[in-house]
Amino acid sequence: MWEAAGNTVREALANSMAQETSRDLGPVVLLGPPGAGKGTQSKRIMEKYLIPQVSTGDILRQNVDQGTELGHIAKAVMARGELVSDDLVCEMVRLRLKEPDCKRGYVLDGFPRTAAQAGWLDALLDDRLFDNSRPTRAWPIVIRLDVDYNQLLLRITGRRSCPTCGRIYNVRFQPASVDCVCDIDGTRLITRNDDRLEVIQPRITAYQEQTRPVADYYQRTGRLISLNGDQPMDVVTEHIFRILDDHHA
Ligand code: AMP
Repeated sequence: MWEAAGNTVREALANSMAQETSRDLGPVVLLGPPGAGKGTQSKRIMEKYLIPQVSTGDILRQNVDQGTELGHIAKAVMARGELVSDDLVCEMVRLRLKEPDCKRGYVLDGFPRTAAQAGWLDALLDDRLFDNSRPTRAWPIVIRLDVDYNQLLLRITGRRSCPTCGRIYNVRFQPASVDCVCDIDGTRLITRNDDRLEVIQPRITAYQEQTRPVADYYQRTGRLISLNGDQPMDVVTEHIFRILDDHHA
């Protein structure tokens, strides 16, 4: 009897989770300077809402590692802390968003980074519907993480990542249990090539000059939600989940 009741409860829970995960969230855009926590928060969104993280930086780095044509072009640009051209990045994103795992939505991490990319994304979404029950255009939910400059420097210079699973650590704020070794798969952690001190300033400048206008663009159209990214990571995550749950409701 209890076993039967337990099974019923489990089935009901499984059904409601299936419903929860089958609802479409649509595109989520995380904006913010390098080191704001976009990668960490994207991974948390991905785990909770079961939608993929589309990180243009990660895809470009994969291309560099695999020695593709795109990787060859991007390598030097990234090493200087500058932005890869809009044409190349938009085409790369277009191909990624066509993949079946993006059907219910995705988190864009590091894209759009210029006003031209933001306009391109809106045009792409213009004829794409997320959530058939709501026949409205799928505007992205745009969240910007604002972080103090000195805090950014501490975060970027302390950042280490796992080349196998992509998990991000920080030697100051979120160290691995064993120094420089990933808690999940035991891989040796690495420092990104562009997290070197001499590349950080050009990256922040690129953000201020080219990515700020993206936030202005979303602000003008009433779509920008700003969050204080200086808060502890878990608090920022809670805020983001609340925003997405409200949107989802
Ligand atoms: P991230 O991992 O997002 O910090 O990106 C690392 C580097 O990849 C940036 O400094 C740029 O050189 C390049 N990159 C990533 N996303 C974009 C984008 N949307 N547009 C142009 N360049 C990008």
